[in-house]
Amino acid sequence: MAARVLVAVAWACLGSGTAVGDITLSQDFDSGSLDVAASSVSGNTVSLVGRKTWTQTTPFNYSKYYRWVYFKASDVQGLTPTFQISSSAFLGDLSDHRYVYSYDQENWSFFDQGQVNTTTAKYVFGNTTAFAQDEVYIAYSLPYPVTRTIEHIARVAMSPFVSPTTSGTAGLVIGQSAGGTDDTGRTVSPHDLYGYKITDPSATGPKFKVLLAGGNHSCETMGNHALEGMIDFLLGSSPQAVALRRAAEFFVYPQVNPDGREAGYYRSSPENPDQDYNRVWNDPTGFTDLTAVRDAMILDTGGKVDYLFDFHGMFGPWSRDPYYSVSYSDLDYNFTKALAELEPTIIRDVDSGDPGMLRIWGSSASGLDAAHAFTAEFGAHPGVLEDRLDEMGANYARALGMVIAPVEVPEPATLVLLLAGIITLLLKRRFRRSGRA
Ligand SMILES: [Zn+2]
Repeated sequence: MAARVLVAVAWACLGSGTAVGDITLSQDFDSGSLDVAASSVSGNTVSLVGRKTWTQTTPFNYSKYYRWVYFKASDVQGLTPTFQISSSAFLGDLSDHRYVYSYDQENWSFFDQGQVNTTTAKYVFGNTTAFAQDEVYIAYSLPYPVTRTIEHIARVAMSPFVSPTTSGTAGLVIGQSAGGTDDTGRTVSPHDLYGYKITDPSATGPKFKVLLAGGNHSCETMGNHALEGMIDFLLGSSPQAVALRRAAEFFVYPQVNPDGREAGYYRSSPENPDQDYNRVWNDPTGFTDLTAVRDAMILDTGGKVDYLFDFHGMFGPWSRDPYYSVSYSDLDYNFTKALAELEPTIIRDVDSGDPGMLRIWGSSASGLDAAHAFTAEFGAHPGVLEDRLDEMGANYARALGMVIAPVEVPEPATLVLLLAGIITLLLKRRFRRSGRA
């Protein structure tokens, strides 16, 4: 604790020493989000202003808040600037949070400093060491731009276990989003919406139907990382993945709100900026993307699935662990026990939910009639990088496998007995041969 305080003091002193007036800020890229015009650089301090992209005013005025932040700072090499952003206008809690930075938008590190100043109502962050390159990307959490979905689709399309769904093309496209213009005047081009099926085509007979979705809330990138981890596990060569592909068909809709993601929005998209995208699944009229995805889900699955997992992200406070929401009927279900074995810190949040949530519409008879539906939430916890999110996603697959496609793993005692039997057999044969000779 004393060491942490010392580092913080040293950082504060360092921070006041260097003038960094030349730093420029930009958000002009896939998923970028910063009110650049309202942000400013003064001496050593970079004052950031978040974009308030969810414009809903009733019943609660969300238009006063920002959430997703992702920008580029240029001309920073050798500098140790202090960044600050409002903590009171952030929808969530920034205590104990850490922003991330990257020089290449691929490899991310956590800033080593970050704290809320309660007097100024600012969250203040930075590093004790200077930036090593001239351009640095800075984000609230690990980004997952639309281009990453497109790249992942290209990879999974090569798997022999991936095929188009009934509503999809050979390129795994099930429709198009609307595109539009965002609150900063940027043009968002219409995007392909993806859907595909994972199963082992050589295994015939009745199979479980499992629906996986991500990207519903446009800034909840952590959910997309975990979903990618689950998909990569399902396409892997482990005995559990082999068994799951034989036992089930997975219908995957990895990015249901790409316009909102590209525009750097946090719960909505340029087509319906005042709407929460996870409250309209029961009536997505006027939502080009969700209408196309919902129609595809119904057609592809025949309107009936056994399991539904909707991947989301969460935004502090970090006294809370990642959790998943379930309806009451799922409380004692085997999947929740299996997941608790693999991920004891993921907590279960019993919540009857809103009729327009994908989980709730998906478990309704007029929706996908899912027997078991989950909203899986993954936090931007300090220290949690991509590998850990991938692993959590993979554990969702492993837990499902424990329930619907258990793999027989011999107990160590069984293995010893088996080995002893083989040795006895070999010795006997050798003895018989030598007896004959
Ligand atoms: Zn969400």
